[in-house]
Amino acid sequence: MTTEPGSAVADYLGLELPSKTAPQRARLAALARGLEGSAEPTSLVSYNSTGLVLIIGAEPSALSVVEDIVGRVTCLILATGSASMPESSGSGYTKHSVAGQEVPVLYGMPLQINGYLGSFRVLVQQKNREIELAKAMNLASGGIDIILDLGRNPVIGRERVPPGYFAPAGDSDRLHQALEEIPSLVGQFDKPLYVQYKPDICAHGERGITGCTRCLDVCPAEALSSLVGRIEVDPYLCHGVGSCAAVCPTGAIHYRFPNLGHSLDSLRRIIAAFLDQAETSPSILLYEGEHGGPQLAERIDTLPADIIPWRIEEAGSTGLELWLSAIAYGAQSVLIMTTDETPHSTVSALQSQVRLVSILLDGLELGAERVRLVGLDQLNPISGTANGGSVRVVKPASYGGIDEKRVVLRFATEHLATGLTSDIDHITLPPGSPFGSVQVDAQVCTLCMGCVSVCPAGAIGDDKAKPRLTFVESNCVQCGICEQACPEDAISLVPRLLLDNARRMQHQTLNEEAPFCCIDCGKPFTTQSMITKMEEKLSGHRMFQGDALKTLQRCEDCRVKAMF
Ligand code: SF4
Ligand code: SF4
Repeated sequence: MTTEPGSAVADYLGLELPSKTAPQRARLAALARGLEGSAEPTSLVSYNSTGLVLIIGAEPSALSVVEDIVGRVTCLILATGSASMPESSGSGYTKHSVAGQEVPVLYGMPLQINGYLGSFRVLVQQKNREIELAKAMNLASGGIDIILDLGRNPVIGRERVPPGYFAPAGDSDRLHQALEEIPSLVGQFDKPLYVQYKPDICAHGERGITGCTRCLDVCPAEALSSLVGRIEVDPYLCHGVGSCAAVCPTGAIHYRFPNLGHSLDSLRRIIAAFLDQAETSPSILLYEGEHGGPQLAERIDTLPADIIPWRIEEAGSTGLELWLSAIAYGAQSVLIMTTDETPHSTVSALQSQVRLVSILLDGLELGAERVRLVGLDQLNPISGTANGGSVRVVKPASYGGIDEKRVVLRFATEHLATGLTSDIDHITLPPGSPFGSVQVDAQVCTLCMGCVSVCPAGAIGDDKAKPRLTFVESNCVQCGICEQACPEDAISLVPRLLLDNARRMQHQTLNEEAPFCCIDCGKPFTTQSMITKMEEKLSGHRMFQGDALKTLQRCEDCRVKAMF
């Protein structure tokens, strides 16, 4: 019998969880606790479509497809293939009558398609020139609403194509589905604004130097682009896959549907309630509602009661901060279920994050395999000792409601490091990790402070009172911009997690020197190493021979005075 909390849980999860045994009832009650509280609403993105459909393909196939949908939508054809291009057509178009309706046909090859549902632009190659399809066909709307690309090699070959673009690539089932769906795409359609971007904490680039590109590298929808040191998110192309947010080291790109603080609170309540009632540690199973949900529903009766399924929008929408927090709250393990629909780029982004979390958990003596990507056939809890070693048990953490990724990571790692039995100072991490230090070779660093001006995270700083390079390790996201900016090649990255949180947040000194004072007025204005470097560089220059080299030892004001 379904209890009242059970029905709220079933509505949210899209799953009817059994409630025959005490642990199963504890799971239902815990999930009901997770549903308390509401997520901050996100904005919406709207698409407007009048139902103007462009079919791209060889003329006979395109005409036969038109027969299925004409009358319910307005069709145009871009007829491809040399056999379709009559000499007489020029840049104009002809019309064919299909089921009593005139269907305009333009001949040419599609070169480029930009846009999304309600606003596609198509560039066409016609003989020796390129033309915009809307212009060539005198379309009053200026754009196309929907595209059905019948090519074996579709023009848009991304893992997640824009809404309104259908490319069955020769698969008759997918063509059938597209023809079913296309007539329904007339009107206004809203979707949530899945991700948001905070340029002020992004480490993509500074002063022409490119640093972090992690989000650009993983977006399966090509919804992100690089724009003079910052990232631009096209909300119309974004499918909410979320892998950008999972790999972002700073939280500059973050998931809003729901936001991190809400997800943390839900998981904390679920885990605490289950620990309380079942007196055993649960595993959290994160599954995609749309694709994973129906698959999971078929196995739900055999799902062990200590695995608590929790619906998420997309597998890529969670990351290190949520997984580590779940372990900090007392979960035995976190299972992230992927399906055949999860984009390959997302799976590989998640795999790299899971590898990182394994190294962290292993270093924290908590068991390396407690966070895993799983398929439907691998739904077993993973104990902390699955890798054979003994693991520590940590008291459940109580933090929550925090939306800042770096802050959550700090809380989680600090909590999980409490009570370590070994006296290790840090955990060494692979290159590309979001935590670490920088090493400065004091023999070559001139304290020019070029790195200070480019660090986007405020990790490297200077000291207004004297030539000193400072560093706050907890701020460093290992973007590498300082390493690239250093004219002396004095900086190298050291990916690691320093376990002493107080030290991580302290200002350390990377390099310091006594100031060099002007030989005329005595004012400190640079460092001895900078003077030595300049003298080495300019000693062969005809303008700096003999006493002229002393100019370098004067401050700016005294240099001007000495000239007159
Ligand atoms: S810091 Fe985040 S948003 Fe900025 S480039 Fe890196 S991954 Fe993208
Ligand atoms: S210290 Fe260097 S690597 Fe670290 S955030 Fe600043 S620029 Fe990036």
